[in-house]
Amino acid sequence: MLPVGGDAVTDGSAGATGHGAVEVLRAGWVLTVDASDTVWSDGAVALGGGRILDLGPAADVVARHPTAPVRHLPGHVLVPGFVNAHTHLGMVVLRGLADDRDLADFLAAVVPVESRILSADLVRTATRAAAVESLSAGVTTALDMYYFAPDGRAGADEAGMRVLGGAVLFEGGPGIDSWDELLAWADVVMASTPAGPGRRAVLCPHSTYTVEPPQLAEVAALARDHDAVVHVHAAETASENADVLARHGHRPVGVLDAAGLLRPGTVLAHAVHLDDDELALVAGSGAAVAHCPASNMKLASGVARVPELLAAGAVVGLGTDGAASSNDLDLLGAARLAALLHKGVGPGGGPGDATRLPAAQVVRMATMGGARALGLDRDLGSIEVGKLADLVAVDLDRPHVQPVHDPVSALLYAAGRGDVTDVWVEGRHVVASGRTSLVEPERASADLRRLAERTGIG
Ligand SMILES: [Zn+2]
Repeated sequence: MLPVGGDAVTDGSAGATGHGAVEVLRAGWVLTVDASDTVWSDGAVALGGGRILDLGPAADVVARHPTAPVRHLPGHVLVPGFVNAHTHLGMVVLRGLADDRDLADFLAAVVPVESRILSADLVRTATRAAAVESLSAGVTTALDMYYFAPDGRAGADEAGMRVLGGAVLFEGGPGIDSWDELLAWADVVMASTPAGPGRRAVLCPHSTYTVEPPQLAEVAALARDHDAVVHVHAAETASENADVLARHGHRPVGVLDAAGLLRPGTVLAHAVHLDDDELALVAGSGAAVAHCPASNMKLASGVARVPELLAAGAVVGLGTDGAASSNDLDLLGAARLAALLHKGVGPGGGPGDATRLPAAQVVRMATMGGARALGLDRDLGSIEVGKLADLVAVDLDRPHVQPVHDPVSALLYAAGRGDVTDVWVEGRHVVASGRTSLVEPERASADLRRLAERTGIG
């Protein structure tokens, strides 16, 4: 447990760890990511019932909640939980299996292994380990695309992480032989999705190169009926664009548009290769882009036009992609990489511009950008009264971070996921003093080693 401050005012609820009791978190800085990018120095947040009840200067918040225990986080910055807008959590079991090759060769190596080893039990165990990794890095919410979605969600629930997943609509996945069976499975997954704040049904048509246009139109209708998020890979590589154009007469963005899928609630994973018209179309449609710089760089897919998308008003979140390609679930690392990449490389590989993607804008992408992509920004993405208490404490009082002239700069450019000490999801304290509290990190590591041995990998 973290030390509770010596001036803590306590009453009968002192020491309560349930997520219903009111508690005050007092930190060196509170980085709200609200509309004005408010940062409180010596700030505090009161939480109770899983939500944020109050925030502001610490003295004021403590005075307004005189009976609540105060948890001191000196030298820490308190930030909204990071939102991973594109990942395949269960793929942690394939980490390191297919490095140093492009997307086509990567898929050729990984897909046969997946079809051989995947089971509901494996996905549950692997996703639980992925949730331990994610939470330890301050990622409280993920949009996941993987097989056996209810089992993956159950694994994430064990660790206390919010994972939104849906049926992967891809003929050729494990256990399902026809499109009609896939749609029936999609209904089962959506029906099993818990209702409530911070949750939405999800459909995952894999891509326009694996799902036919009439089927994509069916997905669009289903999404409208169920108010579901649609999570789809799009325009990840130049060869994907060329192949889809040759087959369907449109590139992926055009195929999705014709199917009625370019709309708010659709999340386009990658969107690396957009021409000017496609960029304007995506930005104007309300569909979001999940930018995955680590995966795009490692697979040599190209550089997404993120500064231009943002300038055009597009909703852009950040993703890690699966750990088989990126090779981790470190969203803060992806955020730093995004900032450096887009400063260093201009459009079309041209000259860079150090003013591109300033730190606050990138931190916003990692939090509010993801929340908006999922249509969950009323409940997630910033530290504001009434939102769910998804909070991350990052220790900035370390030699590789000090001195702190600006907590946003320190968080993005100097701190890392190893500096995350405490995480709350809906007020539940799921990482305490750097350790996940519901599933021990040693158990997650042992599970992954055991799965790799059982499946003959590694
Ligand atoms: Zn992906």
